[in-house]
Amino acid sequence: MLAAANKVIRLKKRNIKDIEYYLLPGASRKTTDIVVERDGTIHVRPPLHMSAEQVDDTVYSKRMWIYRTLAEWNSLNSTHVCREWVNGESFLYLGRHYQLTLVDDPVKPLSLKNGRFLLNKALVRSPSATAAKQAFEQLYSQKGLERLQARTQYFAPKVGVDFGSITVKDIGYKWAACKRNGDLSFHWKCMMAPPKVIDYIVVHELCHNHHRNHTTAFWDEVDKVLPDYHERKDWLRDNGASLTL
Ligand SMILES: [Zn+2]
Repeated sequence: MLAAANKVIRLKKRNIKDIEYYLLPGASRKTTDIVVERDGTIHVRPPLHMSAEQVDDTVYSKRMWIYRTLAEWNSLNSTHVCREWVNGESFLYLGRHYQLTLVDDPVKPLSLKNGRFLLNKALVRSPSATAAKQAFEQLYSQKGLERLQARTQYFAPKVGVDFGSITVKDIGYKWAACKRNGDLSFHWKCMMAPPKVIDYIVVHELCHNHHRNHTTAFWDEVDKVLPDYHERKDWLRDNGASLTL
């Protein structure tokens, strides 16, 4: 239903193949107006005197545009993160949400204590909360180094490879990278993912010491160590974009 000028107009819902849309009353216009609304629904206003079947045909002929627009809408809305630097806002750590508490602590910028992130409130006042973000990046990097070193040590013998140094920092759009000499780097954002997913990232990277590509042979190596890697990989694909500050 759509409220317009204090009058509720009941919309007709129609389907053409896999596209569901709301048919609005006709308007004196030459072309059919197709709109993907902010809530992801499709509203169609046809010219006057167009039959419902003709509208179906028109909508169907515009399906590529509709699919593309819906895909964009989905990706924007499923991954949109809008952080507020206030008490009670939640932040991810190892796949779980922890609430933010702003505190007066001139010594420690940020700590994770008793299930809460305690952030020095002075950092929130910096432009765009840059200092607050930096404090989080530092904490994720520092905790990440401990965990990723331990997990790499644990998995390297299982994968059957050696590794060099381990670094945790901002490495752009990648979760992890490995050099030919075995040095590994991980994005600090990995620490927002659940432990199972972090393990997948570690094993994936270690397996690149066997194969420097993503061929079947590479995935076979991953599968030997993590037979359920598909689930973990899918989780990262679906949720990766929301792991951000
Ligand atoms: Zn890879």
